Amino acid sequence: MAKPKVATTSLAGCFGCHMSILDIDDRILELIELVDFDKSPVDDIKEFTGRCAVGLIEGGCSNEENVRVLQDFRKHCDILIALGDCATMGGIPAMRNTIPLKECLDEAYLNGPTVFNPGGKTPNDPEIPLLLDKVYPVQEVVKIDYFLPGCPPSADTIWQALVALLTEKPMDLPYELIKYD
Ligand code: SF4
Repeated sequence: MAKPKVATTSLAGCFGCHMSILDIDDRILELIELVDFDKSPVDDIKEFTGRCAVGLIEGGCSNEENVRVLQDFRKHCDILIALGDCATMGGIPAMRNTIPLKECLDEAYLNGPTVFNPGGKTPNDPEIPLLLDKVYPVQEVVKIDYFLPGCPPSADTIWQALVALLTEKPMDLPYELIKYD
């Protein structure tokens, strides 16, 4: 019987949550007995090859491409997990939400103390995805089934959540995996 597929992506994130996935260490061998990885930076598959049981989403939505990728994950995955604080709350990238977008761009490309930009232009190549007015947590864009907060969530948390879902058992995470003080 074909194994269920897992897909992962990093939207406006730092890849730290993906590092935490890899931190499951030698349990990755058990994981690949349970699943095949589909679209993911883990295997560098760029497009979905079929229906996925689980999609892990790192990072929130900061630009139009993030939204497109997230909607694509919702379309192709039975279960979506928001992985980490950036996905669930916007995280560090959402610090820009209190500042008008034009001021952010002016500071980054024109007025910042370390900026060298003799042309005096903000990059506007059509290939660059358009920024959204602010950074949105993923549940404000599509329906999310599970949330694993943390920066990043621990490898043990990710492991236990994934195994529970893939073996159709309740996701009963012990207190020490979901406390953040
Ligand atoms: S939650 Fe933390 S580790 Fe994960 S993408 Fe955001 S900043 Fe990086």
